[in-house]
Amino acid sequence: MATALDLPPGDPLGAELDAFVAAHDLPARAAALDRAPAFPRAEFRAMGEAGWLGLTVPPERGGRGLPLATAGRLLYRLAYRAGTAFAKLALQPEFCSVLLEHGDATLQTEWGRPLVGGRRLVGNQLTEPGAGADAQALGATARRDGDDYLLDGTKSEAAFATDADAAIVYARVGEPPGGITAFLVPQEGPGIARRISPVDLGERWQRRGSVEYRAVRVPLRHRLGEEGAGFAYVRPELTRERALLAAIYLGVARASWEETVAHVGGRRAFGRPLSDQEAVAFPLVEDAARLDAAALYVAQTLDRLARGEEAEGEAASAKWLATEAALTALDHAIQFHGGRGYSSELPHERRWRDVRSGAIAHGPSEVMHVVAARRLWPRRPRAPT
Ligand SMILES: Cc1cc2nc3c(=O)[nH]c(=O)nc-3n(C[C@H](O)[C@H](O)[C@H](O)COP(=O)(O)OP(=O)(O)OC[C@H]3O[C@@H](n4cnc5c(N)ncnc54)[C@H](O)[C@@H]3O)c2cc1C
Repeated sequence: MATALDLPPGDPLGAELDAFVAAHDLPARAAALDRAPAFPRAEFRAMGEAGWLGLTVPPERGGRGLPLATAGRLLYRLAYRAGTAFAKLALQPEFCSVLLEHGDATLQTEWGRPLVGGRRLVGNQLTEPGAGADAQALGATARRDGDDYLLDGTKSEAAFATDADAAIVYARVGEPPGGITAFLVPQEGPGIARRISPVDLGERWQRRGSVEYRAVRVPLRHRLGEEGAGFAYVRPELTRERALLAAIYLGVARASWEETVAHVGGRRAFGRPLSDQEAVAFPLVEDAARLDAAALYVAQTLDRLARGEEAEGEAASAKWLATEAALTALDHAIQFHGGRGYSSELPHERRWRDVRSGAIAHGPSEVMHVVAARRLWPRRPRAPT
């Protein structure tokens, strides 16, 4: 059964992706990374070399330059085959658009190209202990000192806290309150202390944690774009990535839904297949409709963004809708596989844990509603992200 997020039949990109997934045994690697969390350097490198990092990044920056709608469909397929980990990893250059679009030529050579090539990992550090959903409350500062800035503050919740080679760090510059400004900060050096948080519910390979900056020297040329323009730069990125993440969550859920439909059709209990029980069949029927409807909405949002239309509210709603539909379907997959569904013998519990992050990361679901609501009532107070 095709969904709105499937690639057109026979699309050679689909076959190329499937061959890559098989050659690197990505489904098994994703399960292993959950059991023993680590950053998958070898796969990151292989993905860069094979062109699976930066699907939408223009060729002159080292990417494939694909339209957003095609990238969304590829990520849906990658997530369907191998879960969230490698699909999200594929997006790491897109998560670093502020570097790719606003870093100078030297930064592109030193960091941008190597990121898209899978040779250097660049993270993002916006969240702080006192500023998460309300990113406008962030308190890190960068003070000009000759040809450098001196960076002070603590970043928290960050993916790749000890694995990233550099991070895009947001800090306030100038007279208080100061304009929020993005910097590219290499992660080794005096004044930087990094640590990993206790193990996460899901997405464990991201090894989140915190990074402390104490009077860290950041050269002027590591400022990304203009002082005070950090939020203006990151906002369109957030819109694109929310729509792409929505496709990822739906791909994961689709895999579990198909596996569950097959399972309940064969598993016998009380003298007949489980699928003969309406209490089992009807939730799966509802999941099919919900997942298909969400896929249509996400595909429509990606198409609108690909055409250059304004769809910030739709992208926010797409992430919320896809996360909800996917979590419901994944919960049913756990339930209808019984005791094995609740164990790591099957992938459903891990998929649920990974997708559960979607209701918090890249903007909590409630904030997605705030973003969507301001499209309906433009005079409402602006959401932070
Ligand atoms: C897997 C994962 C990866 C992440 N990676 C990164 C990263 O690489 N870099 C980075 O900077 N951050 C990262 N984050 C952090 C993430 O962006 C924040 O956790 C998120 O923005 C919420 O901020 P907070 O944790 O401070 O929660 P808070 O801001 O304290 O919010 C807590 C909860 O309150 C509710 N809430 C908040 N605001 C509102 C509102 N206006 N209306 C109604 N309810 C509201 C929501 O339920 C929210 O989840 C990651 C998080 C996860 C889970």
